Amino acid sequence: MKVLEKFRDPAIARTLIKEVQASAARLTERLGRRAVLMEVCGTHTVAISRAGLRSLLGDYVDLRSGPGCPVCVTDYADVDRMVAFARLPGVTVGTFGDMVRVPGSESSLERERAGGADVRIFYSPADAVTWAAEHPGRETVFLGVGFETTAPAVALSIKEARARGVKNFSVFVTHKLVPPAMEALLSDPELRIDGFILPGHVSAIIGRRAYTFLERYNLPAVITGFETNDILDAIREILRMMLNDERRVVNGYTRVVREEGNKIAQQQMAEVFAVCDASWRGFGVIPQSGMRMRPEFSAFDAAERFALPPVTARVPAGCACGEILKGKLTPRDCRLFAKVCNPTQPVGPCMVSSEGACAAYYQFERHAL
Ligand code: SF4
Repeated sequence: MKVLEKFRDPAIARTLIKEVQASAARLTERLGRRAVLMEVCGTHTVAISRAGLRSLLGDYVDLRSGPGCPVCVTDYADVDRMVAFARLPGVTVGTFGDMVRVPGSESSLERERAGGADVRIFYSPADAVTWAAEHPGRETVFLGVGFETTAPAVALSIKEARARGVKNFSVFVTHKLVPPAMEALLSDPELRIDGFILPGHVSAIIGRRAYTFLERYNLPAVITGFETNDILDAIREILRMMLNDERRVVNGYTRVVREEGNKIAQQQMAEVFAVCDASWRGFGVIPQSGMRMRPEFSAFDAAERFALPPVTARVPAGCACGEILKGKLTPRDCRLFAKVCNPTQPVGPCMVSSEGACAAYYQFERHAL
């Protein structure tokens, strides 16, 4: 724990805040507006809200949340397909916890479970393989949701199922890649982002090198950890680079992230999944931003194994999740926020997921309204 002390030290935090405020004030004078910085990681979204950094720094920098919550970016149609899997007779749907309550067009996995469907939360995809092996009379469909962080474990589970001959296990793959979504944001003429606070967990897998495309956009970015002082230090560094006309991708999380990332995890993903176009909530299809099963593992591809009815996804009326995930709006801009929509009765996924921007604002920032 000692190693983390300086990242939690309030005295260091106070110094960092003063430095951020001073740099940001100079930058505001130069730009004629506040600098817009975006985090693309749900854990950062929560950490920023919990530490109250938006209130502390709001007069100086515009901190926006982007598409960093894996559950939130899962497309409406994919949520409806997950519900359709749960409705198939003899099928157990296995998932990570947050996905259960995400509303689809007509239902959610939670509602299907209340109606008798077998929907189970597994803490790891390997547990789902074991469960499938112990229940050969049922088909187990695991929901492969998440970014580069969860995909390696899901890839491993597929290999494990093949090695153990567990034929009643399959995966519905909706995994997504963070860098293409960032490029989609930067290509949007309605958005102005001055710098990125880059994710810690995803970067541990893909490495600093995966972000060198940002140089084409002449944008500063810092990979950082999740302690308050990590985040403040990243903001200070981005502002410093802006003031000095430097545009680099800095690894500020060297205690975890390497230049090349985790090559073993990358290999596991590449062995089982191929990169493909994918549809993201709020964005539509982003080229080369998702993963699909490679043909040699198609026996474990739930989308191929089961014939699902066609889905017609409907966006919940009034829900602004899509625009919030692109950083165009904040939860406070949604007229349903904290009135109709709250964590007990969520309208959209950003209020369901523990990493969703709406849930974070609701828990930590709604009284600052
Ligand atoms: S507050 Fe609720 S309805 Fe509004 S954007 Fe967030 S999740 Fe959607």
